[in-house]
Amino acid sequence: MAEKGGISVQTEHIFPIIKRWLYSDKEIFLRELVSNAADAETKLKHLAAVGQAVGIDGNWRIDVTVNKNEKTIVIEDNGIGMTEDEVKQYINQIALSGALDFIQKYENASSDGIIGHFGLGFYSAFMVADKVVLETKSYTDAPAVYWSCTEDGEYEMDEGSRTVRGTKITLHITEEEKDFLDGDKLKGILTKYCGFLPFPIFFNDTTEPKEEKEGEEQPAPTPVNDVEPLWQKMPNECSEEDYNNFYHKVFWDNQDPLFHIHINADYPLNFKGILYFPRLGNEYRSLEGEVKLFYNRVFVSDNIKEVLPDYLLMLKGVLDCPELPLNVSRSYLQDSEYVKKISAHIVKKVCDKLAGLHNTDLEKYESFWDDIKIFVEYGCIKDKKFYDRMKDIVLFKTTEGKFVTLSEYKKLEGAVEGKIYYATDLTQQSVYVKLYKDQDIPVIVLDQLIDGQFINIIELNEQNTVFQRIDSVTDELRKEDGKEEESSLKELFAEACGKEDLTVKETALKDTSLPAILNITEKSRRMNEMAQIYGMKDVHIPPEEILVLNTENEIVKNLAKNKDSDLSKTVARQLYLLAVLNQRPFTAEELNRFLEDSYGILGKIQ
Ligand code: ADP
Repeated sequence: MAEKGGISVQTEHIFPIIKRWLYSDKEIFLRELVSNAADAETKLKHLAAVGQAVGIDGNWRIDVTVNKNEKTIVIEDNGIGMTEDEVKQYINQIALSGALDFIQKYENASSDGIIGHFGLGFYSAFMVADKVVLETKSYTDAPAVYWSCTEDGEYEMDEGSRTVRGTKITLHITEEEKDFLDGDKLKGILTKYCGFLPFPIFFNDTTEPKEEKEGEEQPAPTPVNDVEPLWQKMPNECSEEDYNNFYHKVFWDNQDPLFHIHINADYPLNFKGILYFPRLGNEYRSLEGEVKLFYNRVFVSDNIKEVLPDYLLMLKGVLDCPELPLNVSRSYLQDSEYVKKISAHIVKKVCDKLAGLHNTDLEKYESFWDDIKIFVEYGCIKDKKFYDRMKDIVLFKTTEGKFVTLSEYKKLEGAVEGKIYYATDLTQQSVYVKLYKDQDIPVIVLDQLIDGQFINIIELNEQNTVFQRIDSVTDELRKEDGKEEESSLKELFAEACGKEDLTVKETALKDTSLPAILNITEKSRRMNEMAQIYGMKDVHIPPEEILVLNTENEIVKNLAKNKDSDLSKTVARQLYLLAVLNQRPFTAEELNRFLEDSYGILGKIQ
């Protein structure tokens, strides 16, 4: 029955194309052949289950063996096998036309334009081999088949000598690709792509003959894969420890993640996965997450940014999307409705998880709020839907260290209707913090750059909600019915400070010990910050400063009485600079002036 044929007859160019195919990604040949082996076992397992194949033992296994001396890589399974007709049909025709189809479609695509490169199939073996031998025996009584094919497409088929059910594929690796004969490298590739396939895969390097000492018990070989990946299980079958262990193993991160989300989406979005929120700890840790994409447990690609909105890119996890059309370009993925739905589903799950934690385990939620805050705020800024889902569980920390939501803040004792008072720097603004504390007005801390943009979003979306930094107004610090009025000392201050347009007001503050405070209007300060964030160096928006003199303070009272004394200018300047000191760092000029004045005053001791 020996038969010879020429694949090149119909397909002159296929082998040269396969050879140079996606140079950087040649390793996928292993994924293709091992997943074929797993498919062959799945098929037979199914036939056995429905009674169409009898007497099938359940010892499923796949063996991958490398031998550097022989320059071979062998992939062997005990699956369904093939009859002669099937080899003709599946290998000579279907596999070939599959490979052809694929190549025609993607011949001109650049390698990074494609993820997964799914579908190249059996003939991907020729990316690394110049000869492929296939020995197979069907699970039926049909005789075994021997098939071999060289890189110029000449194949040979004959009756084979294989006695056991299944298929063995031997790749004769080319000189050029001999790196694949390195046992560690090959095992690494095998684990990467096939680490979660459903049948045990054993790796063997037979380059060095193993010395077997008599009487010594050999340890049982362990498969390279985990046949029951966690994401395939139901969430109620997995413990916290299972999730953490899986995370450590897959992401090589020895810290426990903050929390996880197990997604098990059925119809119409058929995908499964586990996403982890990593503990970011300190700023030196990379914020870049990692989502591993699988296609029916076969690893496809490492970082599929398209499935997550950018504010969730620090998530780490695995997604198994059997419906994702994997052999498509990234730009297709960006426009794909399916991917958009997956992404929306993930966002919803993240929100549900956070809301669930907030409602049932507030202590835990608060304990990791600092880690997730930036991402939540960023998400709220970028995505209105996310904002709507999250707004009631966004936390703010008060200066007393207590966490509150926006609505909880509004209900706090001492809160002022419609106003949210905040501090951005507890040291620099400590005088104001104390003033508000004395009044029992709750103040929250917004000390991150992103907070500024975030509160803009809240103000845009929520009625009757205005954020006011504590050093921007004296509204709550004035005595009953007190108002800010133009100060009669304006000229004195303007002259003493060399600032002609200095705004000077006066009012009666409840706190009598403080002679003056400097307010910077909320609006001008925010505009200034925006200009800085967006690097608008040429745009200089000077912050609007208002010096408020406290008419209840003795120094101010005395200064008003002694406007024309020799000391009045120095006192005015000192009052201004002390107010500055409480508000912001000095400029160099202010510092020099302040020191000079201070030494001058101290020098009055005789
Ligand atoms: P695909 O796996 O996408 O169908 P391939 O080119 O990888 O394409 O394989 C073509 C066909 O060859 C498979 O569908 C299968 O019927 C058959 N085949 C390949 N490898 C094996 C194997 N190890 N055991 C049994 N049949 C196989």
